[in-house]
Amino acid sequence: MKKPELLVPAGNLEKLRTALLYGADAVYTGVEGLSLRAQQAEFTTAELEEGVRAAHQQGVRVYAAVNISARNSDLELVKQKTGELAEIGVDGVILSDPGVLALVRRVAPAMPVHLSTQANTTNTEAVRFWHTQGISRIVLARELNLAEIAAIARDVPEVELEIFIHGAMCLAYSGRCLLSSYLTGRSGNRGECTHPCRWEYVLTERSRPDDPLIVTEDGRYSYLLSSKDLRMIEYLPEVLAAGVSSLKIEGRMKTVYYVAVVTRTYRWALDAALKDPEGYRCAPEWLAELDKVSNRRYTTGFYRKHKTEKFTGLNTEESYRRTYGLAGTVLQYRPEEGKILVELRNQLTAGDVTELLLPEETLTLDSTAMTDEDGHPLAAGHNSYRVYFPVDRPVPVGAVLRRRLTRTQIL
Ligand code: SF4
Repeated sequence: MKKPELLVPAGNLEKLRTALLYGADAVYTGVEGLSLRAQQAEFTTAELEEGVRAAHQQGVRVYAAVNISARNSDLELVKQKTGELAEIGVDGVILSDPGVLALVRRVAPAMPVHLSTQANTTNTEAVRFWHTQGISRIVLARELNLAEIAAIARDVPEVELEIFIHGAMCLAYSGRCLLSSYLTGRSGNRGECTHPCRWEYVLTERSRPDDPLIVTEDGRYSYLLSSKDLRMIEYLPEVLAAGVSSLKIEGRMKTVYYVAVVTRTYRWALDAALKDPEGYRCAPEWLAELDKVSNRRYTTGFYRKHKTEKFTGLNTEESYRRTYGLAGTVLQYRPEEGKILVELRNQLTAGDVTELLLPEETLTLDSTAMTDEDGHPLAAGHNSYRVYFPVDRPVPVGAVLRRRLTRTQIL
């Protein structure tokens, strides 16, 4: 059985380091001005250089997304950035635009090129075609089912295939959508999607615009266009049997906390599935972990449907929900004092349920034991406060603390 890599989103340098800490085999990043997550999830060249160095020290690969639908005015920047990416030593470039492909092949002929899911590759002949154009890996369209993916993998073993296993889904065909452009002037095809498919809509009759008809499913909400999030952790043996090379987690815009929890949980699950695919059982605590990050409820998308493109994963109940949030990150472990220095990222109050996420386990911390530098107890700490907690074992720098929210947040 092929051992696929676990590929994790790294929206910035801190998230890249978090992905390394919690078990990624590879990460993917944005490139300033040229990726589909323009607002908060791109690296400058210097940041990327630092990230690649840190990743390579741990044997982790870094792929850079250059997956905009490029205009002529973008091409100069594509050329310049491609040269920089080759110098930095990224392990691949992810793109979807044939013009960008041509430029990358010309400027950096040795650079491995991955075709983004934005290119909507859904069949063997399309995979063969792209391979003849110099593409070494294809991120298949999310609309395929696992049987179709397995058939493509059998037909074209010389091409690496990558599929998504977790994260947000688009209602449009692999992200090809103008809803955001139309409603807000910010284009999803240039990394500026405002996610209007997840908004709540009402129906109005032309002559009574001030009298909207509220469309509800359960008396509260109706997000008619909003997909649930993909979650394949329960079906990893089926995913492995499809024979792909890379399993991708979606979410370059997500938080450090999300990256920590989802990477760690899939690391545990994937290692178990690889070790004993027949005996694999998805542990209830893994599902509980994935419920502790912001989500819109979960679906298996199209993967386990036998009819092509029959999709039943709409979330008509709420936009996002979450039960835990980021409390802080570890700046330092002081073994001689048996404590950790934490930078808070949100308010933390003595008495809050607080957990420290280590790569292999979760430690419950006593939040009433939180102190300042001089050891004075703190009743509460705020964003950017530096506080201390006693711990009885080594803790890596960058480990994430979370706190349980007092009520489930519906966002
Ligand atoms: S509006 Fe929704 S369906 Fe369209 S690109 Fe954005 S996330 Fe995808």
